[in-house]
Amino acid sequence: MKPSAFHYEKPSSLDGLLDVMGKHGEAARILAGGQSLVPMMNFRLATPEVLIDINGLSELDYIRQDGDSLSIGALTRHNVIYDSPLVAELSPLMAEAYKHVAHTTIRNRGTIGGNLSHADPSSELPAVCICLEGHMILRSKQGTREVPAGEFFLGALETAIQPGEFLAEIKIPVRKPGVGSAFEEVSPRRGDFATTAVAATLQIDGGICQTARIAHAAVADRPARIESAEAVLEGSALDKARINQAAEIAASETEPSLINYHGDADYKRDLLRALTKRALQRASENSVN
Ligand SMILES: Cc1cc2nc3c(=O)[nH]c(=O)nc-3n(C[C@H](O)[C@H](O)[C@H](O)COP(=O)(O)OP(=O)(O)OC[C@H]3O[C@@H](n4cnc5c(N)ncnc54)[C@H](O)[C@@H]3O)c2cc1C
Repeated sequence: MKPSAFHYEKPSSLDGLLDVMGKHGEAARILAGGQSLVPMMNFRLATPEVLIDINGLSELDYIRQDGDSLSIGALTRHNVIYDSPLVAELSPLMAEAYKHVAHTTIRNRGTIGGNLSHADPSSELPAVCICLEGHMILRSKQGTREVPAGEFFLGALETAIQPGEFLAEIKIPVRKPGVGSAFEEVSPRRGDFATTAVAATLQIDGGICQTARIAHAAVADRPARIESAEAVLEGSALDKARINQAAEIAASETEPSLINYHGDADYKRDLLRALTKRALQRASENSVN
């Protein structure tokens, strides 16, 4: 198949991008790495009237520390983040999750902004952003707004991005001293989308869990925190029994709805139990000051 006809724009500056986005609104679709959009266009699952190519906009390609935040420009390629010592230092959870994201050739072109805007429910990075309570910076001709990751993913391939807006930056709080993290996934092969994945962070002080964050991917139409499991950990001594209890709650109180040939609801619950247990165990082990 070939894509349907489209008008092509390639702005050479951020101002130019804001102009063409404002001009074309709903008719426009951004082309970033093209790893998801181009196949969809070839299958005619996406038929944008206007394709706006943001490749070359260096203003959207950066990784930097801004105070307590790690800021990543939307056009930053997966492999740049994968290899970044700054990301490894400031966000070990994101660095670990990246080991599960696609294959080298896809990571060479694919971008973090394209990944998050595409909002595949089986993708690792949305769950990481939710677990870390990151923020999405959206820009349009009308201005800039900041959307918490927990409010950004609205459903499968659906986000809070409005017509005329684009994702400009992802902001992740930098790892605080004493916070441990772990990412656990089962997938058919390394680099495939997750069958089920769990991201966890634990802040432990004197053996007592102060804060717990747990998020799942590939279980429902969007990633989500498992707040009931977090609640049994916070304020408690983190021993094996407590971790098992949280894992049991994660399995029993989550309703898997993303059912496909990779697994039915019972299998996904079993994976949630096992992966939550493993993630919490490892996060507690690496929560050093
Ligand atoms: C074989 C294969 C295996 C893969 N495995 C995985 C995996 O294991 N885990 C995983 O997470 N991903 C996986 N991916 C997807 C990969 O991560 C893609 O890079 C990603 O989904 C899309 O990023 P992109 O930059 O290529 O975006 P594009 O394909 O260019 O765009 C995707 C969508 O996002 C929109 N968009 C892009 N950038 C912006 C922006 N800045 N603002 C607003 N909208 C924007 C586009 O309009 C389009 O709708 C895989 C892909 C392939 C082909």
